[in-house]
Amino acid sequence: MPTCENCESSVDETLEYEGRNLCEDCYLDAASRIRACDPWGEHSKKTFREQHGLKGTDGLTDQQAEIYRLIESKGKATREEIQAALGISPMELENQFALLRHCQLIKGRREGDLVYIVLWE
Ligand SMILES: [Zn+2]
Repeated sequence: MPTCENCESSVDETLEYEGRNLCEDCYLDAASRIRACDPWGEHSKKTFREQHGLKGTDGLTDQQAEIYRLIESKGKATREEIQAALGISPMELENQFALLRHCQLIKGRREGDLVYIVLWE
């Protein structure tokens, strides 16, 4: 039986998404995150970068903008720092991080034993 590469559950068949074989739940989850990012699209994302150097938060939800601004002001922050500063749960942060990362706004960076979240550029 094939196995989902994300949640590792055994399923009758997997769906391929960006080179990974996922169960239906994970596939839909991944696909909906991408849709959530769509307001930019590839073209407007490029224009956005050119015009603002990715400093703006247009098109983000309030919570996404808060996360982005926090990292922008601190330069880097751990997940724990962001959760404490904004009062959000690890699950919420993980969802927002996945989306912001897909939009190429923020990313993870390992320094020693810690993983910081930093701006993409
Ligand atoms: Zn899965």
